[in-house]
Amino acid sequence: MNDSSSLQSAHGAAKVAVIGAGMAGLSCATALHEAGCRVTLFDKSRGPSGRMSTRRAEGWQCDHGAQYFTARDAAFAEQVQSWVDAGCVAAWAPRLRAWSREAGWSQPGEAVTRWVGTPRMTAPAAAMVAALQAAGHALHLQHTVTGVHRTTYGWRIRVAELEAAGAAAHAALDAGLDAAFDAVVLAVPSHQAVPLLQPVAPAWAEQVEAVRMRGSWALMLRYAQPVATGLGWEAAFVNTPPLRWVACDSHKPGRPSAQETWLLHADADWSDAHIEDTPESVAATLMAAAAELGLPPPQAWTAHRWRYADTAPGTAAPLAWDPALRLGLCGDWMNAGKVEGAWLSGRDAARQAYASLRQAAGANAMPAG
Ligand SMILES: Cc1cc2nc3c(=O)[nH]c(=O)nc-3n(C[C@H](O)[C@H](O)[C@H](O)COP(=O)(O)OP(=O)(O)OC[C@H]3O[C@@H](n4cnc5c(N)ncnc54)[C@H](O)[C@@H]3O)c2cc1C
Repeated sequence: MNDSSSLQSAHGAAKVAVIGAGMAGLSCATALHEAGCRVTLFDKSRGPSGRMSTRRAEGWQCDHGAQYFTARDAAFAEQVQSWVDAGCVAAWAPRLRAWSREAGWSQPGEAVTRWVGTPRMTAPAAAMVAALQAAGHALHLQHTVTGVHRTTYGWRIRVAELEAAGAAAHAALDAGLDAAFDAVVLAVPSHQAVPLLQPVAPAWAEQVEAVRMRGSWALMLRYAQPVATGLGWEAAFVNTPPLRWVACDSHKPGRPSAQETWLLHADADWSDAHIEDTPESVAATLMAAAAELGLPPPQAWTAHRWRYADTAPGTAAPLAWDPALRLGLCGDWMNAGKVEGAWLSGRDAARQAYASLRQAAGANAMPAG
C-alpha cells in the first residue's frame, strides 16, 4: 500500500480512529499507516493484544487465550517471518497428541507449523504498537468506546472513562485528537460492535447481531515439580468434553524458566453451558478431566472465563466498509475466527477504507469549474 499516491501526499493525512487494539485493529492500523493515514487506536484493556493474551503474576506466566497460530496465507506468512526476524515470534513444535475416552491416545494427522509470540503471546502486538507509536500514531488504553457519532466535522468518539472523569477530560481528548475523524473502523468482537453500530448503522447492527460467538473457560495450573517429562507429551487435543486442549505453556519457546505452567481450555459447548458457574466448580471439573490424561493435581490454579472466545462456524461475514458512512468493520469473526483471519480482516478493512478515502480526496481536490 506504500505508493507515491498515498493519502498523505494526496490529501494531507486522513484521520482514522480504530476501536480495538487486538490483532485485527493493529493490522488495520498498520496498513492505514502504510497508506499515509493518521491513526488513533482505542482499547478498553490495560494492554493491547486482545484475545492473544498472557496472564502474568509473581513467578509465572501463561497464555490463556490464543495458544498458537498458523499462517496459510502468503501475505500473513510474510508478516510472521518478519516477526520471527524481529525475535517476537517462534515456531513451537510440542510433543503433540490427541485423546478421546473412546479411542485413547493417537497422533494428530495434520503437519502444520505452529507459531507463538515470544516470550509471550502478546509479543507481536507489542511490536506492532511500538512501530505505530514510533511513527507518531496514538494508542489510548483503558478507553472504553461507548459511542461513535457522525457530525458535520466528521466522526467523534465517546469514551466511558473520560465521561466518568467529567466533561473537561473529554473536551481535552477531543482537542488532542483534532476533534473529529475522517473515518472509523470497529475492530472489536461482533457482540461488542453491535451497540456501537445500532445508532449509526442499524441494518449493519442487525446483521452483526446474528453472529454467534462461543465461550471458553481457561484454567492455568502451576506445578512446583515438572510433570511434562513424566507424561511424555506437552500438548494434546482432547476430543471428549469438558476439555478440548491441554498444553504445557512453560515449554513454549522463549519462556522464562520459572514454574511449570499448564493451560487447559474447555470445549465451547461445555463452556457455554457452564459460563455462569463459579471458578471453583469449573476448576474441579476440568482438573478431574485432566487427571484422566495423567496430569496430577497442581500446587495452584487460576481460572479465566472467556464469554466470547470464538465464532460459531457458518458465520456469514458482513461487508467490511461503508463508503457513505466512512465506517469499517474488522475482526476474526469476519474471517474464520483465528489470529490469521483477524490479521487478514484488519488489512482488508484498511484497504477498502484507503481506497474509498482516496477516491473522496481525489473528488474533493477536483477544481470547481
Ligand atoms: C480461549 C481462546 C483460545 C484461542 N485459541 C486460538 C488458537 O489456538 N489459534 C488461533 O489462531 N486463534 C485462537 N483464538 C482466537 C484468537 O485469539 C482471535 O481470533 C484473535 O486474537 C482475535 O483478534 P481480534 O483483533 O479480532 O479480536 P480481539 O483480540 O478480541 O481484540 C478486540 C479488542 O477490542 C477491544 N475492545 C472491545 N470493545 C471495545 C470498546 N467498546 N472500546 C474499546 N476497546 C474495545 C478489546 O479490549 C480487544 O483488545 C483463541 C481465542 C480464545 C479466547
